[in-house]
Amino acid sequence: MPRYTPIEQAKLHWQDDSAISDRFDDIYFSRSDALAETRYVFLEGNALPERWRGREQFVIGETGFGTALNFLVTAAEWLEHSSPSACLHYISTEKYPLNQEDLKLACQHWPQFRAIADELMSHYPPLCFGYHSRSLFGGRIRLLLLFGDANELLAQLEAAVDAWFLDGFAPSKNPQMWDESLLRRIAALTANNGTFSTFTAAGYVRRSLETTGFIVEKRAGFGVKREMLHGTLGTTPARNSTTPWYETGNYTGAKTAIIIGAGLAGASVAAALAERGWQITLIERNQQPAQEASGNLAGVVSPRLSADMDNGAQFYLNAFLHSVDYLQTLQQDRPRLAWHATGALQLLPATQRERLRVLNLPPEILDFCTAAEATLASGATLNDAAVLFRHGGWLSPPQLCEILLERAHARVLTYYDRTALRLSQNNALWEVRSSAGIIAKAPVVILANGVKAQDMSHAPLQLQACRGQLAYVHATENSRKLKMPVSYEGYVIPAYQDQHTIGASYDWQDLDSEPRPDERQQLLDTLAQRLPDFSPGTITQDRVAFRTTSQDHLPVVGPIPDIDFYQQSYADLRHGKPAAHYTSARYQPGLFVSSGHGSRGLTSCLLSAELIAAMLNNEPSPLPQDIVHALHPARFLIRQLKRGISL
Ligand code: SAM
Repeated sequence: MPRYTPIEQAKLHWQDDSAISDRFDDIYFSRSDALAETRYVFLEGNALPERWRGREQFVIGETGFGTALNFLVTAAEWLEHSSPSACLHYISTEKYPLNQEDLKLACQHWPQFRAIADELMSHYPPLCFGYHSRSLFGGRIRLLLLFGDANELLAQLEAAVDAWFLDGFAPSKNPQMWDESLLRRIAALTANNGTFSTFTAAGYVRRSLETTGFIVEKRAGFGVKREMLHGTLGTTPARNSTTPWYETGNYTGAKTAIIIGAGLAGASVAAALAERGWQITLIERNQQPAQEASGNLAGVVSPRLSADMDNGAQFYLNAFLHSVDYLQTLQQDRPRLAWHATGALQLLPATQRERLRVLNLPPEILDFCTAAEATLASGATLNDAAVLFRHGGWLSPPQLCEILLERAHARVLTYYDRTALRLSQNNALWEVRSSAGIIAKAPVVILANGVKAQDMSHAPLQLQACRGQLAYVHATENSRKLKMPVSYEGYVIPAYQDQHTIGASYDWQDLDSEPRPDERQQLLDTLAQRLPDFSPGTITQDRVAFRTTSQDHLPVVGPIPDIDFYQQSYADLRHGKPAAHYTSARYQPGLFVSSGHGSRGLTSCLLSAELIAAMLNNEPSPLPQDIVHALHPARFLIRQLKRGISL
């Protein structure tokens, strides 16, 4: 897994209008005419914007996001020169990101880019380790910020980069950013005919770039600088995967898909694909979206952290930050979306709270509260200390689904009240059938139908249903004082439509859909114990729903394996032969799944949808490889094969 590292922010000072890094004792951008230098070195050096012509998608990779000057200049050119349907993917690594205030100050130097800077600032992630994928300007630019060390995070990237801006500090001040192994990785991530440019002409950098496969040219440097380097990838380096069983190829078929299931998982995928110009047929067995596990009146958006920040915890942290950003943007477009960015409290025992301190997350992401502070923040008396996710909040999942689908409706044909029962392939098209016959045909199908995805995919996805019972209660004058959701063994959410949602039980292997009085009582008892002065009104409804969970409690997202191929090709995995011994994976063509989101779908579904959309559109992956593999639908199969368990 990517090694979780707390982020240290940039330390800089200003001198004669130039930003200087205290850590590296070097300038972020040139003292004289920085804009012209960026245009000369990075845009002209990569033959931009000419190479954008006719491209529906273009990928730029940068080492060192710094003050965002390169980004601002590039974004302005892109918005001016590209077609409105085209997308620029701008990937940038940054080990020491500027905080919001410093970045704002830096951007203020360029009033001509005010609109772009405002858009950037409103999406700029908190200073947390990992991959942060953000959609800017309605999807015309997708910014993927990798906060952490370039060497480690680029090792985890899946992308085909058309142009590199190599902009670490001077090699003499920061040799790490010009290390041959990093440049080798950069070459491996470069698309055919991809290019690079850099301000430096240092001999060892040139030689390393040549060794890694670039045809390097020198050209006059900007201003007083004598020379700079630019070049094109000559020999495509061998891309040796260490996990061929998780490799995914490029999708080149028509942009037409069927999605089965209109809960949070399905609606999120529909939105992500519609935004990329796909035509969708959405099939739902109920008469409306979000009637099953996504049908609770209200739900909490918060991360699931752990002190070791394993793949799952890293996924949930990045997914949480992505969701919060997405919801805020969606709400600007659809103000009726009742996204309540109130913050979210989680009551935790002292040992668990203390363990989370090592994460060193910014307090706006993870704050530690005494019981008195938690009481003040939540508006409800609490006797326990807590952690506070200031960016967290709550919303109504059915309303979110409805709005996602409403926004995508021009590209989504929905069949409600139809139960998809069977999938079969005919002439490279999937046919989805109900008991009455074929409902729809398409080259791509995404299964977002909870536990049923297992039967339809004929793959061991290890999905299981987990019964959850919750209660809705009338709000009272007292209970309306609750300002944010509070989670403990259960949870309580501020009133929506004048009712609180109080959740929820977890009963595995229990298919009883009838509410039980004893479970209801337990929900109320725990609430009374944790929020002793909270006095809601009478119960309006008990609700039972079945969340889909997976064996390892992570979502199952991605392409569905071809079982026969896996069995034949990876049968001897348990012998631990080198990865080069194996061929790349084969999948059931065009068949994908997004399921197993458990009780955290509000946090995980939106980023999972971006992952599937990225795979289907050959975009840079919004998640690091190890996390993609941790969510991969073939992981259970691979674990079995590695242990030598027959399928
Ligand atoms: N492109 C930036 C701009 O337009 O403002 C300027 C980049 S500045 C010259 C170099 C950047 O590289 C700094 O922000 C620095 O923090 C970052 N950096 C240095 N070492 C790094 C590393 N090992 N991994 C990732 N980023 C690093």
